[in-house]
Amino acid sequence: MPHTAQQFASDNYAGICPEAWDAMAQANRGHAPAYGDDPWTDAAADAFRRLFDTDCEVFFAFNGTAANSLALAALCQSYHSVICSSSAHVETDECGAPEFFSNGSKLLVAQTADGKLTPQAVRALATSRSDIHFPKTRAVTITQPTETGQVYTIAEIEALSATCRELGLRLHMDGARFANACATLGCSPAAMTWQAGVDVLCFGGTKNGMGVGEAILFFDRALAQDFDYRCKQAGQLASKMRFLAAPWVGLLDSGAWVRNAAHANACAQRVAQRVADLPGIGLMFPVEANAVFLQAPESVLAGLRERGWRFYTFIGGGARFMFAWDADPDRVEALIADIRAAALAEDLVPA
Ligand SMILES: *Cc1c(COP(=O)(O)O)cnc(C)c1O
Repeated sequence: MPHTAQQFASDNYAGICPEAWDAMAQANRGHAPAYGDDPWTDAAADAFRRLFDTDCEVFFAFNGTAANSLALAALCQSYHSVICSSSAHVETDECGAPEFFSNGSKLLVAQTADGKLTPQAVRALATSRSDIHFPKTRAVTITQPTETGQVYTIAEIEALSATCRELGLRLHMDGARFANACATLGCSPAAMTWQAGVDVLCFGGTKNGMGVGEAILFFDRALAQDFDYRCKQAGQLASKMRFLAAPWVGLLDSGAWVRNAAHANACAQRVAQRVADLPGIGLMFPVEANAVFLQAPESVLAGLRERGWRFYTFIGGGARFMFAWDADPDRVEALIADIRAAALAEDLVPA
């Protein structure tokens, strides 16, 4: 099968990083008990507890939609509601799975520019209704970094969690790119989560260098009651669980999780810095993680497509470029050169 040149349309176009792959190969030596009753699953859960410096409950799922949906379902009854931002993956990209797995908990959407929720937005939605006819607000979900690549500061998370506590809400974090946020802030995973008041985290493995898999961490262990049954019922209990668990051991114990993310972030920074001066080109959002959203005339986007680049334009018509753990510096340079060429060619066209 031929390899195609790297594209930056999505960070899940990338393959599996060596640390995750090696751990899979080790787990593949011989047999092991099924359904998580194996040494790799224990080792992965322990690696998370060490990394987060707390005795959390750890579960593994195949993908982020399941992780988010089941985590939110664990926080809610069917008559509850969950506050999220208008660009949240749970709202825009999970086909109603959070509502489905919670048997109907409603998502309450706050309109935000950069995908970040604020205490004010949470308070406004949570207090807008308190009558029996409206679903009772129960949880808040934030995406760190957001779908457009903004990173909540620890102070912002603390302010949100304080509002949640005051209003009796639980705080969930969709960390599909959690490692990228850690790399940006240079803080410990603990500081960004349970120490800041996050109750449940979905930690993304797929976009961090694994082939498949996400981890769900309950910092409040009581919230994890019967979560194993919830996973099984949803088709998320892997019988050969060691292959979902082992790559985490490779990623976490080697430090690859944060190295991978830092590399991806650096590539995004590089592109942002090298195209910001171009006529007609703008950054739609500050570049704080591994995403670059370019605002550019349609003719420039067409020029990029002609030069062979793939990208999505589903947010505001701008071009999204996402950098993965293995972004090839030469391809990043080629992208920069082509963005420059396309923009400057456009600039030469007489008005
Ligand atoms: C990729 C992603 C997920 C997980 O998506 P799946 O395709 O279900 O694995 C969740 N949240 C965000 C913000 C994402 O970008």
